[in-house]
Amino acid sequence: MSNNPEVRLILVGPPGAGKGTQAKRLVDTLQIPHISTGDMLRAAREAGTELGRKAGELMDRGELVPDDVVIGLVMERIAEPDAKRGFMLDGFPRTRPQAEALDAALEAAAVELDGVVLIEVEDAKIERRITGRRSDAVTGDIYHMEFDPPPDGVDVVQRPDDTVEAVRARLAKYHASTAPIIPYYDAQGLLRRVNGDQSPDAVTHEIMVALERA
Ligand code: ADP
Ligand code: ADP
Repeated sequence: MSNNPEVRLILVGPPGAGKGTQAKRLVDTLQIPHISTGDMLRAAREAGTELGRKAGELMDRGELVPDDVVIGLVMERIAEPDAKRGFMLDGFPRTRPQAEALDAALEAAAVELDGVVLIEVEDAKIERRITGRRSDAVTGDIYHMEFDPPPDGVDVVQRPDDTVEAVRARLAKYHASTAPIIPYYDAQGLLRRVNGDQSPDAVTHEIMVALERA
């Protein structure tokens, strides 16, 4: 149906780096599904499933959800028909075991990753990004009270884990558990580093340029 080439990408970065913001823009251009484990876990919580309830408690504390749970969700999702021609993973993998499980699944399907985009933002800027984050209660569109305020009349909500306490825990988890996947992908020649501390348009542009070079 579409002439777009297959493309399989991962977005990595600390909480608040702009992964969700960039993913939404990039999937429009690339015509691939946006697969956010954070969004999937929040949907499970909203639906009131056992998995959602257990995950929700961990999420609110800024802890990671166990690898087997998240791996299971992603394996099912990437096996769906719309993901056959590619996907944009946002927030997964977040640990070495998750990265290895993804590699094994892709190898079994005889497909490869095209790139792993690391959106870099220094720790000192993360708290402000996270505490100012709001999203449209209906569409899920992401705003920031200071950097990208919602239009008048839009009903916005704040995530329960976007507190100062939880963001500190999430940042610590990022450095301890997620940062080790950076050298893992770098060694495979897949890593593209992008400066996340510039306007969203400039970040999108830098990502597109980095991917074209690949
Ligand atoms: P952020 O926008 O801060 O990067 P996400 O929306 O991606 O956060 O994730 C929110 C929370 O969901 C995480 O703090 C964690 O508890 C859980 N979560 C999301 N993805 C994963 C994953 N791949 N592995 C473990 N936990 C995850
Ligand atoms: P992540 O998915 O990595 O946690 P988000 O895309 O949700 O990050 O962005 C976190 C917050 O920072 C949001 O409120 C968003 O509007 C804002 N934001 C995203 N990109 C930028 C940017 N380049 N400059 C300033 N604020 C940004």
